[in-house]
Amino acid sequence: MEKIGVLSLQGDYEEHIHALLKASEKISVPIKVIEVRNQNHAENIDGLIIPGGESTSISRLMEKSGLFEKISSVRKIMGTCAGAILLAKEVHGATHFQRFLGLMDISVSRNAYGSQLASFEAQITTVFGNLNGVFIRAPKMSLLSKDVQPMAFLGDEVVGAYQKVKDQHLIALAFHPELTTTKFHEYFIRL
Ligand code: GLN
Repeated sequence: MEKIGVLSLQGDYEEHIHALLKASEKISVPIKVIEVRNQNHAENIDGLIIPGGESTSISRLMEKSGLFEKISSVRKIMGTCAGAILLAKEVHGATHFQRFLGLMDISVSRNAYGSQLASFEAQITTVFGNLNGVFIRAPKMSLLSKDVQPMAFLGDEVVGAYQKVKDQHLIALAFHPELTTTKFHEYFIRL
């Protein structure tokens, strides 16, 4: 059975666990979900979801638990919002003590849609059809390489992307799929 970890240090990891379990039921692919809080939890996982939350806090807690190296080599990773920031090679608006995984050829600008009050919901166009996208102090995203494929758009802005680097599958989403759909979790399980 596939073991999928959800980084459970800070942020909305519980919603991702629910979305994963719902997705696995929908597509009838059984999975084992693991809450990843330390290096042992990250042992032998087939995939990892990095949730939304506060990328500064998540990165500090990852550093404290020595998770950076372990996570970097997981075969598939999906980062949403703060998680997408952690995956990016280029980050604008980072705090000076913030560290990143830097695995994916995307550039992100933290909080570029405005403050918490400027959070919004909007129709997005995705590879799975039109969906309701929830943006909570979301980063703006741009692609740095032709190897990165867009997966979702808000108007003409890319808000979701996929990249395969060697044997590693990477997905970065600026919005919160776990709140409105299981499509991305279904895709992630199937990868
Ligand atoms: N603004 C947060 C950050 O920069 C991300 C917000 C979120 O994950 N919903 O870390």
